[in-house]
Amino acid sequence: MTNLDADRPTENHVFEADVSRLLHMMVHSVYSDKDVFLRELISNAADACEKLRFEAIAAPNLLGSDADNRITLTLDEENLRLVVDDNGIGMNREELIEALGTIARSGTRAFMERIEANKAGEGAQLIGQFGVGFYSCFMVADRVDVVSRRAGSEEAWLWSSDGQGAYTVSPVDLTDAPARGTRITLNLMEDAKTYASRWSVERIVKEQSGHVPVPISIIEKPG
Ligand code: ADP
Ligand code: MG
Repeated sequence: MTNLDADRPTENHVFEADVSRLLHMMVHSVYSDKDVFLRELISNAADACEKLRFEAIAAPNLLGSDADNRITLTLDEENLRLVVDDNGIGMNREELIEALGTIARSGTRAFMERIEANKAGEGAQLIGQFGVGFYSCFMVADRVDVVSRRAGSEEAWLWSSDGQGAYTVSPVDLTDAPARGTRITLNLMEDAKTYASRWSVERIVKEQSGHVPVPISIIEKPG
């Protein structure tokens, strides 16, 4: 990824303490149903499309010449990668930091409180009960890169983390970013390579994301 703007070099950030705790717990959990991460990413992508539709009521030019929302899953088995793309509202720099570096949501707070109250190891089952959202992708990926361009913005940003307590934020060239929306690249762990295979991904999408109101397509990247 090109880092064009010398005035805005890569910034280093640390996760809010609660996020680090949550990440640590997820990565070290023996929770077996890791499939849920895909449902969470697709649900976020669909929410982003919904938000764009809503904002576009007052500001139709946010849609530009691309009024149809879509979610694309790109599978790259050879390089152990899964990419989730949406052309929804996208995030600017501040939104990336706020949304992916802190826990602002009551659901996750409640989840953390349950975890704290249950030192006995109930954590694993709790992941299934609560929607734990974006951070669940660190159950299957050892690096996650999020490139996002907010609708109507002339800037795009890369958020990148290995889920170990810190993340970076840097500007990216618009030619390396989606025209609008968010691209999430999961660098899968060796034992999670099934999430780069069409067979698994199709099954999970069918089982868990059948109700999503945005069309989802699956593309295989030739190795
Ligand atoms: P929730 O969806 O419950 O808010 P998540 O952990 O799944 O929690 O996501 C946190 C936040 O990150 C979302 O509320 C949203 O603001 C932002 N976000 C995540 N994925 C996307 C995306 N694909 N497009 C835009 N914003 C996103
Ligand atoms: Mg979510």
